[in-house]
Amino acid sequence: MSQIKFSPATRLFGLIGHPVAHSLSPKIQNELIDTCGGDAVYLAFDIEKDDVGSVMQAVRAMRIGGLNVTAPYKEAVMPYLDSLDGTAQRYHAVNVIQNIDGHLRGYNVDIAGVLKFFEVKGVPICGKDVLVLGAGGLARALLNGLSAEKAGSLTVFNRTAEKAQELARRTEEEWGFPICAEPEAKAYDLVINATSAGMHPQEDACPVPFPCPWIDSHTIVFDSIYNPSETVLLKESKRLGAKTYNGLGMLVLQALLSYEIFTDQKLESRIYQKFADYGSLQGVESIL
Ligand code: NAP
Repeated sequence: MSQIKFSPATRLFGLIGHPVAHSLSPKIQNELIDTCGGDAVYLAFDIEKDDVGSVMQAVRAMRIGGLNVTAPYKEAVMPYLDSLDGTAQRYHAVNVIQNIDGHLRGYNVDIAGVLKFFEVKGVPICGKDVLVLGAGGLARALLNGLSAEKAGSLTVFNRTAEKAQELARRTEEEWGFPICAEPEAKAYDLVINATSAGMHPQEDACPVPFPCPWIDSHTIVFDSIYNPSETVLLKESKRLGAKTYNGLGMLVLQALLSYEIFTDQKLESRIYQKFADYGSLQGVESIL
């Protein structure tokens, strides 16, 4: 339980979105503030679409230190900001707003969060054969991020094959990295689930068939889903001897990167190590 003490100088950070009632961000961020000894508090605000502009004005007027932005406002906030970091421009979505003396700057740490998680956990990308499952927003951003990390090869697989083909074509065109839209019958080094198959309330769904030629005991399987903490994909992959991770670490490391932006300071690597293990330390179910 967070032991935050308040003072006249206590800073306010927060999350805007709709709905936000079940967000884990306030819990994670307040524990982080506590761990870092910061004089700040983090709250969640459920706001209406028509109020996005006035909320941005309030952030300036009330000197709110920074905000995270979640669905459905990641694009809607953009016209109200004073500048955009390269990541926000690249993904055309903002999930962190920094307020420096009334200047609001938008960032996107979605992919940085997952890449940081891989770094902290020692999961190599460079030169590895990676299979991305899904063809939605996260899959698109991942293909971009993984190509920048110099993956050996990138393959995308999706339930609706045409969407995977279209995504592969568009990504290649935009970023010049070859993407294959037909997985080979071989085990990949890293398999990433960027679909909602297996996520509450479709817990029985799985984005790949089992037995699965793409996963064996040397494969690392990362599922972006964290509720439930172990999807069918992770359970079955574990049975094949694969190393598995759920999506909580990705969420938590996004929170750490956001905090660095809010406070304009770098966090020590021991804090990254501690929070990367957040789910396993506390038991994911106990915090959902
Ligand atoms: P999205 O744009 O809506 O894309 C959803 C994808 O899931 C599509 O490729 C869709 O396939 C596929 N899909 C849905 N149900 C399926 C099923 N039963 N079987 C197979 N494929 C199925 O969503 P998104 O924004 O990319 O997010 C994708 C996932 O990432 C979600 O689970 C989300 O929770 C997770 N996520 C996690 C974090 C984190 O911090 N851990 C952050 C962002 C996102 P079709 O094209 O065939 O419909």
